[in-house]
Amino acid sequence: MTARMGTARLGPAERATALRRMAAQELDVVVIGGGVVGAGVALDAATRGLTVGLLETRDFASGTSSRSSKLIHGGLRYLEQLNFDLVREALQERALLLQRIAPHLVRPVPFLFPLTHLGWERPYVGAGLTLYDTLGFSLGFTRGVPGHRHLSRRRALRLAPALRRTAFSGAVQYWDAQVDDARYVMTMLRTAATYGAEVASRAQVVGFLREGERVTGVRALDLEDGAELDVRARQVVNATGVWTDDIQELVGGRGQIHVRASKGVHLVVPRDRIHSLTGIILRTEKSVLFVIPWGRHWIIGTTDTRWDLDRAHPAASRSDIDYVLEHVNRVLSVPLSRDDVEGVYAGLRPLLSGESEETSKLSREHVVAHPVPGLVMVAGGKYTTYRVMARDAVDAVAHGLDQRVPPSCTDRIPLAGAEGYQALWNSRQRLAGSSGLHVARIEHLLQRYGSLIDEVITLIERDPSLALPLTGADDYLRAEIVHAATHEGARHLNDALSRRTHISIETFHRGLAVAEEAAELMAGPLGWDAEQTKREIEHYTKRIEAERLSQEQDTDQEADAIRLGAPEIVPVVGPAS
Ligand SMILES: Cc1cc2nc3c(=O)[nH]c(=O)nc-3n(C[C@H](O)[C@H](O)[C@H](O)COP(=O)(O)OP(=O)(O)OC[C@H]3O[C@@H](n4cnc5c(N)ncnc54)[C@H](O)[C@@H]3O)c2cc1C
Repeated sequence: MTARMGTARLGPAERATALRRMAAQELDVVVIGGGVVGAGVALDAATRGLTVGLLETRDFASGTSSRSSKLIHGGLRYLEQLNFDLVREALQERALLLQRIAPHLVRPVPFLFPLTHLGWERPYVGAGLTLYDTLGFSLGFTRGVPGHRHLSRRRALRLAPALRRTAFSGAVQYWDAQVDDARYVMTMLRTAATYGAEVASRAQVVGFLREGERVTGVRALDLEDGAELDVRARQVVNATGVWTDDIQELVGGRGQIHVRASKGVHLVVPRDRIHSLTGIILRTEKSVLFVIPWGRHWIIGTTDTRWDLDRAHPAASRSDIDYVLEHVNRVLSVPLSRDDVEGVYAGLRPLLSGESEETSKLSREHVVAHPVPGLVMVAGGKYTTYRVMARDAVDAVAHGLDQRVPPSCTDRIPLAGAEGYQALWNSRQRLAGSSGLHVARIEHLLQRYGSLIDEVITLIERDPSLALPLTGADDYLRAEIVHAATHEGARHLNDALSRRTHISIETFHRGLAVAEEAAELMAGPLGWDAEQTKREIEHYTKRIEAERLSQEQDTDQEADAIRLGAPEIVPVVGPAS
């Protein structure tokens, strides 16, 4: 069906092989952390011809990289702060991701900016967006999204009838891009593995190997079976986001880079609760609030508050949810209530520590450092600029290796599923005919798998019962759960329901109604017996119950204490979080 050959899988057998190979040789580089930055580093290093291993303590993208606003954007806010270089760099990345690297996963998205002040605001916003559009042109690329346009209140209301007429006087519409953040990371790891990287989730770095002062590798714990392994590497990269300081402490000392966490909470509501053909961006006292179209849903957020509690499971409190509802309701003619909220998720921004106490003003730029010989740290930045961060980190790795290393080429490396995507999209009617699936289903699959759609269709050809949607989450096919386990590194029910699909935030039951069916589908490929299958369902149920209860609490402390009541499916030891 496609010209694509042999994209690496991340199934259980491949994980076992990766861990074995990592323990058996000295690698050029081992990466700690399987978020977007670590995955980017693995791909950058592998495509420069280096031998690479990557260790992630939980599931891929289970940290910040599955909990973002899912925007690939320059950031209008940084424009207002006159940080033109950051905006230009991010918009160049946006053009590259949209048009070359991942057109199947990154898509244009329109936003309406309602104007509330007569007079100065329209020229001010218009000038900003003209600059934004201009900075969006990058060398050799068009912008990849349409330019902005001014709208009267009447025309804006035609696009977004949900807006309260008296809440604004007119509007400007502009375009940015959006991504499925968790799937992007997993797809990048499959791409890296295809280029030879060894990657493993549920493998926690618990210490460093040293020769005197020099770091010569890491000690890791396989959290699935408790086995320890030493991974020798000539360079180690710490890409652990909000855990950066913990890793620095493992190596001794506080280091040069300090990262602190700022919590951002998003709500998910059904699409029919807000009648609009476009996303919306609203100013808040501290920052902005987005209303972002997301399939049959809206994602609304975010907040920005300091967080010093559990970093593995940041909890959203009642106050966070009320804050988001209160702000969005200021412009809606029919206000949203807590009953409209299908899903809630919280994430932690890895902010480079600065002098300012206000988290929304801390730097979004990244830093790369070489704190001790053999160790490179990369931190800060944002999702959109992960590729630049990865390139800079691997440049530092190259500096530490006494060999010539070619320059980064990831600007020319399409992710798995990108090649052939456009042709398949154009042929989606034919694909629907040959597969027996509805064309709307094919579109949904193409936007999740790109040209790797044939992997899902092959599963269905072998077992036609997999063509059925999940009962209770009919956006997703049964085949997608099996595929998550066989090809995409999902090792537990939560991985499939929260990150390979987003059932846990896209349904009012938050995945509980499909937990049994999904666990049974995963049991075969992952070799679970009845006991383990039951344990997976119980664990998932406890997690959802704890999250729901934590969202009833007024304060972060109360919400955190309750969320911590649901343990990890596998024992996770240190770093303390
Ligand atoms: C609310 C919110 C909204 C955002 N919205 C946007 C947006 O719209 N656009 C944008 O560009 N950016 C956005 N960002 C920023 C962006 O999401 C982050 O900058 C980015 O995801 C950070 O990726 P990372 O790889 O550094 O960290 P992470 O994704 O957290 O990855 C670090 C990984 O290291 C692992 N790890 C930790 N300790 C160990 C260990 N000992 N051994 C092995 N592994 C370990 C963790 O489990 C984790 O998976 C947002 C952030 C937040 C919080």
